[in-house]
Parts: sequence; C-alpha cells; structure tokens
Amino acid sequence: MRIEEAICYGKEKVHSDFAKILLSDLLGKNPLELYLCLEEEVPINLLEQYKKEIQALQEGTPIQYAIGHVQFFNRQFYVDKNVLIPRFETEELVEKALEYIQQIWEKDFPLHILDLGCGSGVIGLTLQDKLPSSTVELLDISEKALNVAKKNSETLQIPVLFHQGDFLENLESSPFDIIISNPPYIREDEEIEEIVKKNEPALALYGGKDGLSCYRKILQHVNSYLKEKFLLAFEIGETQKDSLTELVKIYLKDVEIECLKDLQGRDRMLFVYRKGNG
Ligand code: GLN
Repeated sequence: MRIEEAICYGKEKVHSDFAKILLSDLLGKNPLELYLCLEEEVPINLLEQYKKEIQALQEGTPIQYAIGHVQFFNRQFYVDKNVLIPRFETEELVEKALEYIQQIWEKDFPLHILDLGCGSGVIGLTLQDKLPSSTVELLDISEKALNVAKKNSETLQIPVLFHQGDFLENLESSPFDIIISNPPYIREDEEIEEIVKKNEPALALYGGKDGLSCYRKILQHVNSYLKEKFLLAFEIGETQKDSLTELVKIYLKDVEIECLKDLQGRDRMLFVYRKGNG
C-alpha cells in the first residue's frame, strides 16, 4: 500500500489528522513530509502496525497509548495503559521546580531528590537528566508502572534508583533535599473526560473522597524524609490550593508556601520550601 492509500485507509476510520500522525510517527517523518512522498510504499511490517494502531484509536484508545510514547521536555518517553499519560502541566511543574532549585541552592549541588508516584518516570528522569550530579530516586506503588519507568530509564540512558511503595510508608532512605510529586488528586465523585476515565489507570487518577488523600499520606511522614533546607513540589487540582495549604501548615513549620498558576491561569502547582540557615 502506498502512503497516499494508507492515509485514505486511516481517514475512513479515524480523524484524518490522527491517521497522518500515526503514519508519520511510524515512518519517522513529520506529518507534512508525508505529502512529499505520497507515492512511496509503506513497508509491510509498519503497515501492519499502522492498522493495529488505527483500530486501537477506533476503539477509543488515547493516541498516546496507540503510538506508545509522548514527548516530555524534548525527550521521548514510552507510555502504556499502566501509567498516566503525562500532561503539559507536569512539564510546567518540572520547569518551575528547576527554577526554584536554582534559586534555593544556586551552585550547592549535588542534591538528593525523590519523585513520588513516578508513573512513567517523566518527572524524576527529567530532573536527573537536567541535574546530572544529583541523585534522583523514583517511587511508585504499581510494579507495572515501575517497569515502564525502568524501561524509560534504560532507553533514555538516565540511571536512577527505584523503589516500590505506598508513598513514604516504610521507605528506606536518607533524607532528601527535594521531594516532588504529581500524585493522584481527582475527587472520587468528580466528573472527568470519558476517554481519561475509560483508559487511564484509576490508581493514578483518584485521590479519595476529597482528592487529597495522597497528599495526606505524603505529608504525614514527610518530616523525617526532608532535610532542614528543602523543597517540596506538588502538582495540584485547580480547586485544591487552599485546602492543601492548610494541610501543609499542619505538618510543616517555618516554611514558605507558594502556589503558581499554569499557562491557562489555573492554580496547579504548590511549592513548599525552607531555605534554612545557609
Ligand atoms: N508522575 C507521573 C506523571 O506526572 C505519574 C503521575 C500519576 O500517576 N499520578 O505523569
């Protein structure tokens, strides 16, 4: 089948943009380049794969799972149905965290960093990549998610340490300079998009009745896992700023708490830090 025919085949089944994205991704081109080689044959093995992916989309699979990867900080991360699909807001969290780190530690590296609920590993692996002298540890409760993060660590050649566990419950480790997390924070009764609800792991989405149960779990133990001078960085739901700030104040004293908005103007990141005595 030629590229032009393959696009037509896909267009009959899914949105034409999706067909072009799948095909160009498999051929290692960008979607516009397809038009420069419409007459070329699609290699048979790629055609098979293309048809499978088209079918997955037709059945309601998110495109990121269908193609099996996402871009995060200009790196390609493998994803499958065992992990949350990394969101653009999470890139913003990492970007802001790097700014805080620069501001708080200046050149005082290396740092000891923990990514709690790592899923595919996008947060922790990106931080390790950006801060190569530091030691980054990744933790998740799901073995399947950890396998995805390990695969990404190997493919991207970013070595980190892995732990399986329920947040800080029983974690064996020395204290951290930085703990960062995008935990599950959707309220049990919250309406969410059908495609998310049907496909992404509930374990990675829901944070109990009020959406705060994972933050509570983290905060309960966080004191003994943080150094005197620290940064704690959370992605949060857009209505959680005040309730989470109150919760933080119960568990952590003498800290600065700052909430940042994402590019859409929603309160989506909470940074808690103590600069210490130097
Ligand atoms: N840390 C991963 C991400 O941000 C997974 C988050 C999660 O599973 N809640 O994409």
